[in-house]
Amino acid sequence: MIIHEFEAAFELMKKLSDEGFDAVVVGGAVRDTLLGAPVHDVDVATSAKPEQMKQVFKKTVDIGIEHGTILVLDAKEPVEVTTYRTEGTYVDHRRPDQVNFVTDLAEDLKRRDFTINAMALRLNNEVVDLFGGQQDLKAKKIRAVGIASERFQEDALRMLRAVRFSAKLNFTIEEETLRAMTVHASDLQFIAMERIKAEFDQIVRSAHPYVGFKQLKETTLAAYVPGNFEKIEQWKSFSASSTEVGWAMFSYLENDPNLVKAYRGSNKESQFVQHVLRAIELLHEPIENRSLFDIEQAVWQAAVMIYNHVEHGEISIEEIVQRKRALPIASKQQLAVTGKHLLEWTGQKGGPWLKQALDQLVTDILEGRVQNEEQHIKGWVERECRF
Ligand code: ATP
Ligand code: MG
Repeated sequence: MIIHEFEAAFELMKKLSDEGFDAVVVGGAVRDTLLGAPVHDVDVATSAKPEQMKQVFKKTVDIGIEHGTILVLDAKEPVEVTTYRTEGTYVDHRRPDQVNFVTDLAEDLKRRDFTINAMALRLNNEVVDLFGGQQDLKAKKIRAVGIASERFQEDALRMLRAVRFSAKLNFTIEEETLRAMTVHASDLQFIAMERIKAEFDQIVRSAHPYVGFKQLKETTLAAYVPGNFEKIEQWKSFSASSTEVGWAMFSYLENDPNLVKAYRGSNKESQFVQHVLRAIELLHEPIENRSLFDIEQAVWQAAVMIYNHVEHGEISIEEIVQRKRALPIASKQQLAVTGKHLLEWTGQKGGPWLKQALDQLVTDILEGRVQNEEQHIKGWVERECRF
């Protein structure tokens, strides 16, 4: 059963195999296939060293060659191929930059984080499962490979990865693994906020965020990241439609418009969240046309989702969208006049008044006090712009 997503990977594995190298699909793709879940990126691992891969393949891109990863472009889709490796010594509870290439698949699987992520699929469709990953998939358990306590001491980020996978899959964290997380929670302070944010990106938009937030709190991991985590119950049966909506929900529950900044998110992400928080405030009162005009649809969508869920509102997003569509203008570009007209009609020089006047004009058009037509606006200017 070569599933469609594996075609390119299998083609490359065959080439490596013909040259005498061992090659398998590893990690997430194997897990998701066994789960019957959609597979996105298919990663290949091989006993071939990067230089050897470059001899086997025609077109490659070095995307992480120091870690043994190259991107191969010989098949119909690009595939990441990584040399079997073990990791060097861990300093400060972070993954090491240095790796050692090895030729034994078992060594490579041993360094992986969880049993469900440490399986491989061979060309003959044999599943290599050295740590009981299939059994844990059936039991819906996240279990560290090897001694949990050691694995989390090596790389503290793995604790957040455990939470991420449990929130995504609605799996429980196996007892010993969970205990080790509680013991080593404070090591999270050694991890760069960018990497923490990347895991939270996935937790807040997961199918089961409450499962994740509950575990963050119970293990005390929550104490080592921004936020108070006081209203986590609200995540129950909430599922964000995107990462941004997830962050907006998190920020709303924390009542903190700067939460995304604390997690080192981008300005764009932070602004989106701030707009959503503002829109949620506006939902408490009848919405004015000017607000409908100013705030984009995606922001309203997020705001309504969160407001209805947390505040038990019954606001219809369709109604907001329809009202927004029905506005006389959708943007300032649609004004029938420009600043030039106003300068001409008033005989004044430009200045801050001009922007203010145009802004007032927009509001008056939106509220139906003047029509968006040149002659009507001219009359409006004569009435409103006095010097
Ligand atoms: P997703 O479908 O969410 O991408 P994934 O399993 O592919 O899940 P990645 O973060 O892409 O997760 O990592 C790929 C694989 O690399 C994992 O399945 C795991 O085997 C291994 N891995 C990644 N990060 C770590 C880590 N910090 N420690 C140990 N193994 C890791
Ligand atoms: Mg992946």
